[in-house]
Amino acid sequence: MNIPLAFTFVHILFLLFHMQGNSQSSCILVHNGTIYTANPGQPVVSALVFQNGKVLATGNASDLRNHYSVGQTIDLEGRPAYPGFADPHCHFYKYGLTLNQVNLSGTRSVQQILEILDGFAKKHPNGWIVGRGWDQNDWPNSHFPAKEDLDSLFPHRPVYLTRIDGHAAWVNSTALKLAGISKASKTVGGEVLGTESEASGMLIDNAMNLVEALIPQPSHEENIQALQEAERHCFEAGLTLVGDAGLDAPVVKLIDSLQQAGMLSMFVYAMLNPTNENQESYIKNGPFITDKLSVRSIKLFADGALGSRGALLKSDYSDQAGNRGVQVTPTHLLEEYCQMGLDRGYQVNTHCIGDSANALMLKLYARFLKPGNDLRWRIEHAQVVSPSDMFLFARYRIIPSVQTTHATSDMHWAQDRLGKERIGHAYSYRSLLELNGWLPNGSDFPVESIYPILGFYAAITRQDPAGNPPQGFRPEQALTRQQALMAMTQWATQACFEESRRGSLEPGKRSDFVILDRDIMAVPVDEIVGTRVTAVYIDGNRVY
Ligand SMILES: [Zn+2]
Repeated sequence: MNIPLAFTFVHILFLLFHMQGNSQSSCILVHNGTIYTANPGQPVVSALVFQNGKVLATGNASDLRNHYSVGQTIDLEGRPAYPGFADPHCHFYKYGLTLNQVNLSGTRSVQQILEILDGFAKKHPNGWIVGRGWDQNDWPNSHFPAKEDLDSLFPHRPVYLTRIDGHAAWVNSTALKLAGISKASKTVGGEVLGTESEASGMLIDNAMNLVEALIPQPSHEENIQALQEAERHCFEAGLTLVGDAGLDAPVVKLIDSLQQAGMLSMFVYAMLNPTNENQESYIKNGPFITDKLSVRSIKLFADGALGSRGALLKSDYSDQAGNRGVQVTPTHLLEEYCQMGLDRGYQVNTHCIGDSANALMLKLYARFLKPGNDLRWRIEHAQVVSPSDMFLFARYRIIPSVQTTHATSDMHWAQDRLGKERIGHAYSYRSLLELNGWLPNGSDFPVESIYPILGFYAAITRQDPAGNPPQGFRPEQALTRQQALMAMTQWATQACFEESRRGSLEPGKRSDFVILDRDIMAVPVDEIVGTRVTAVYIDGNRVY
């Protein structure tokens, strides 16, 4: 450590000189490709310059070179670039946790699931077996499974397997016993399925909490790993902003600290569950907004999901007489939380699937909102909305926050649940877009795939990735490519109050952008699904 003083001095001078030189020529030019800006004033350009993480100007390369002193360049080599994709409703943190659980999505039978679980159990011989992603609609008989299916393989280890939509859990007898659950167990906003005398092993909505509460919580290190792994997968998918629909204060604080330490680059729009702890830590103090994090919304649930018949309907399920679904939060609490949101300057975002849940929340919101307001309270999913309730979205500027892949995942069985008439006003994304003139589109991952391009494809084709049905499901509800791009960029950030910093490529906004291997705005639709993300930049730094 015996460095001569003179040398150090010279060294510092050199560094200072170098830094200054850098800042003068640190404009970076992105050129030689097609850049979709999501700025309606100048939707397509061939170049842009940015500096210190912000876009300075867009246009063509020779003009920009004339006006700015360009240092580095990023050559698109003819490829297209877009604003960083935003997912306004997903489960970023939970998704990270599920990467360590047994993945059952895409499984075709109970037998196949048992084989996967058996393999997992041999590698992890102790403790709970936790998995997610099964969907009985993909199985030969479409029936809910039972505890006995699991008991044969796991007579002593507790098993907890969440359905693909996160609104039902399949458990074995050991798990039921540990939680002290019988058919007589009562939950508010949930249901223990079974016969008169015996629980079957299927728990719907809030009944899931009885078992979930017993599963050991992830450690601090596991939480960090979950967030970082989730981020890595998001970058691969082209995402630069995620709206996490349902977080608690300790995880939000962890996200903040990781971002401050430079260990997480993703922008997180954190929707808080309305717990006492979250109210104390955040909500009562008003919005909390940093460069990378925004905490200013409350996530509520009005009902469950259609697949597990927990969605709240105005009349009976077409495939189950006497069942109209579950209201998972009592009206007086929903009301209390809306008041809290209004008082504290928090956006209120409520999960509503069934026509009755949508009607309930639209009318409840209408009591708190004035026509023409810009509070952007959201209805998450807005899946089945009666034509007579639609106008409330427009009158009170309530934002339908949709997931276009839900339409193309559910279309095979949704009509069984809803019948011919109600299916005619389900997944009506184009009608919903027309109400306010804009519409955010997300994925709800891990319920659906994490790739926003699949949401773009579903929005414009109303088909599954294999191209079925050939004419599309309710094709009159398709969006145009331009609308679908806006819905996963500018409109998605608008649903998170981030549109002045992110969502489009225009002067003053963050230089968050994605480069793809083909142009989703121009290639034939059947080539969209195979699109690959080539590179992702956040604040002008390459993260993928
Ligand atoms: Zn969700």
